[in-house]
Parts: sequence; C-alpha cells; structure tokens
Amino acid sequence: SDHKLVYPTTPDDMDWSTLYPGFVADAEMSTETSAEGKGQGKGGGDEENGDEGAETATATATKPSHKKLIKDVEVADIGCGFGGLLVALAPSMPDTLLLGMEIRSQVTEFVQDRIRALRAQDAEGKLYQNIACLRANTMKFLPNFFRKGQLSKVFICFPDPHFKHRKHKARIVSTTLNAEYAYVLRPGGIVYTITDVEDLHDWMVQHLDAHPSFERVSEEEQEADPCVTIMRTETEEGKKVERNKGQKFVALFRRLENPAW
Ligand code: SAM
Repeated sequence: SDHKLVYPTTPDDMDWSTLYPGFVADAEMSTETSAEGKGQGKGGGDEENGDEGAETATATATKPSHKKLIKDVEVADIGCGFGGLLVALAPSMPDTLLLGMEIRSQVTEFVQDRIRALRAQDAEGKLYQNIACLRANTMKFLPNFFRKGQLSKVFICFPDPHFKHRKHKARIVSTTLNAEYAYVLRPGGIVYTITDVEDLHDWMVQHLDAHPSFERVSEEEQEADPCVTIMRTETEEGKKVERNKGQKFVALFRRLENPAW
C-alpha cells in the first residue's frame, strides 16, 4: 500500500548500489553473511506520523552480498519534495553523494524519474550520478540509513508548512529529532534550515540553539556558503515563496566536536 515503507535494519544492510550505479566499486562482491532479522533498528508500530496516516514499515530483506560503493552518502535533504535542491547541488559537489528523502511515494518516484532522465542526457554518463532519492519517513528511520557521524550536511528546506497545527512531536525539528541529526552528523557538519514561516524559523532556532551538540553559524559564514544561495533559490518551495514575494528565514547550525553536556 501507499503507506508501506521499506527501510534497512542497519545502515550496513542498505543496498546503495542501485541508487548510485556510477559509484559502485569495481571490486568483487562482498561475501558478508546476512544479518537478516537481527539487530533491529528503530521499527514501525509506534506513533502515527503527521498527514500520512498509519503506516507499516518493513525492514528490507538483507542481501548477503550487495555491491559496495566507493564512498558513502554525505549529504541528506530531509523532505526533499520535487528534488530542486538535489539537482542544483549535484554539479557543485560532483564527488559527494547526496540523498533526498521524501515520504510521499509519488513525489519520490517523480524525483527518481527526474534523476534518471538527467543522467540519460549526459553522453559521458558522469553527470547527476551523485544524487538519488528514496522514500523514507525521516522522523522515524534516520539512524537506520546513516551511521554515526556519516553526514557532513543535512538540509531541512521549507518543512512543516502547517507548522502551527502540528503537534510538537510531529515536527521535523524537535528535541528528539535534533538528537538524531546530531547522531548522523559528523563534528563540524552543518544543519541547513530555511522556511517562509517566521514562527517555524523561531521554533527551529530555539530548539537547535538549546541542543548541546549544535551552535549557530554566524551570519557572515552563512552568507558566504554557496549552499545557502542554492537553498534560497533552487527548491520548488523556495521558488513558490519567491513568486509570492514572501520572506525566507535561514539558519545554519554546526555540529560541535565535544558538546558540553
Ligand atoms: N524541501 C522541498 C522544497 O523546499 O521544495 C519540499 C518542501 S515541502 C513543503 C515538505 C516536504 O516534506 C513534502 O514533500 C513532504 O512530503 C515531505 N515530508 C514531510 N514529512 C516528512 C517525513 N517525515 N519524512 C520525509 N519527508 C517528509
């Protein structure tokens, strides 16, 4: 059904090779044995999430030997929507793997088709190999996909449009989820946030500021970051806000090395 989510039991069980075929290692296939049914990560069956209603989650059957990539995903776009940010970032960091995560299956399929078409247009087969999109509920399964400290950047662009009507627990930035962002980000890694809803901006700043693992990035550094320019102009939601002459509120947070707990 539409609400069926498939997720890996642990990051090592994830077969990334189908998402990034251009980055598959030539080496022989791994001979690791299956960890199926063991070490269950965060699973389904807990509280319902937001608008998507009840969902069931299934751990993917662990493949005994999937092809390894030559590098790991380093950048995640949380709730990537139609993929504008991924497509715009791809050429600016060609050697970095970026992953869009989106809960709506049709939107996910749209982005996957979009990436397939972009790849096919490149005769040399090099462009857009570094971006991919998968269907996931980022509020539940982030540590199933990424190891501790794996990511250098997490983008949260125009989340929670119905912010005011959402319960605290159902928000993309919250005390609980910030602990997960801190877990998957490496020290020095950055959480990028942007929204047109000022109350949501204040909420995100308040909650990330309060977390001992994060410090806010200075405005000077923020404005010098090319990813910020791309984030402001290239997401579909950002373009909509532009057309409606709305405001955009940006805040960046750095994952600290040694949080003072
Ligand atoms: N980031 C995109 C942009 O700026 O154009 C899309 C913004 S849209 C307002 C928010 C997106 O987050 C929607 O596509 C929605 O389906 C997705 N989303 C909401 N909750 C999610 C969750 N728990 N996990 C993954 N995606 C989610």
